[in-house]
Amino acid sequence: MNSLKIQITQNENKNEKTPSEQLVFGTKFTDHMFIADYTEGQGWHDHRIVPYQPITLDPSASILHYGQTVFEGMKAYLSEDGSIRLFRPEENMRRMNNSCDRLSMPHIDEDLALEALKQLIELDKEWIPSEQGTSLYIRPFMIATEAHLGVSASKTYSFIIIMSPVGSYYKEGIHPVKILVENEYVRAVAGGTGTAKTAGNYASSLKAQEVADREGYSQVLWLDGIERKYIEEVGSMNVFFKIDGEVVTPALNGSILDGITRKSIIALLKHWGVPVTERKVSMEEIREAYLNGKLDEAFGTGTAAVISPIGELRWKGELFYVNNGETGELSKKLYNALTGIQKGTVEDPFGWIV
Ligand code: PMP
Repeated sequence: MNSLKIQITQNENKNEKTPSEQLVFGTKFTDHMFIADYTEGQGWHDHRIVPYQPITLDPSASILHYGQTVFEGMKAYLSEDGSIRLFRPEENMRRMNNSCDRLSMPHIDEDLALEALKQLIELDKEWIPSEQGTSLYIRPFMIATEAHLGVSASKTYSFIIIMSPVGSYYKEGIHPVKILVENEYVRAVAGGTGTAKTAGNYASSLKAQEVADREGYSQVLWLDGIERKYIEEVGSMNVFFKIDGEVVTPALNGSILDGITRKSIIALLKHWGVPVTERKVSMEEIREAYLNGKLDEAFGTGTAAVISPIGELRWKGELFYVNNGETGELSKKLYNALTGIQKGTVEDPFGWIV
């Protein structure tokens, strides 16, 4: 994008708001959305904020056939003093461009995208819920729009930002979930698209999730694509274990998504002086730790839940219970610290809030 002239068309028919306790994730959207278009040779143009509405695409548009698309997920929070807080938004814009690289898509101008987002939020600010645990979920995404069935990078794109108010993830308090270790399907392989936030990764994860649902598990634990030996991620979250007092998380290896919550948790732990290591973690190591009574805690991390404690893991028919199925002390402390920084009730020593 090379212009900040954003044309604004006000929505005259404001959407009705849902009380935040009735919000279902990602089903209700604010009154406006941001769009910019890209044409090869011309760059980004026609930056505009318009009423939230369907978009039209040619039936041959590349996105519909070959999935050339990337997205981000981030949140805006309302603090007690009424100010609007974004959590590390520049990290999302940077990651979006990294995803674009992998999918042969054009970069956005990160500063201008953030400026466009701020204008959109300002316009729709009454949509940010204020209750404890609530936020405004922000979904920037880019799609390939060229009408062309050849398998090649599109020459035209749209970059769009939509926003959706979300209720508290933990309405009944933070509680651990049951996780099924997935031994057949994989999420990503090194050299593939696992480090990009692109639609295909999520489409191909649904099958394993279906099996997990059927067996009464909330999410799957993804293993590496070669040996099904090393742990990668949990559902669409990064994963951490506390083993014998040390916090470990799988190192970024070319197939794991570089989560912003993950890097924030690592920074917080280091700030507190808690030992934390990024390295390979095998299922065998988790089994050993469990059998020796050293599997202290396990949790997923991501924008949606922040921290999602794991209470039970099933691997090849064996069950491992973590911390007797209770939320661990470190998980609670990390959850409170990070959500406190996001909401503005805890000091932000890192300068993460915009
Ligand atoms: N892994 C995957 C596959 C994800 O989709 C997400 C959610 N963006 C994460 C990890 C967590 O990333 P973040 O902390 O940036 O939300």
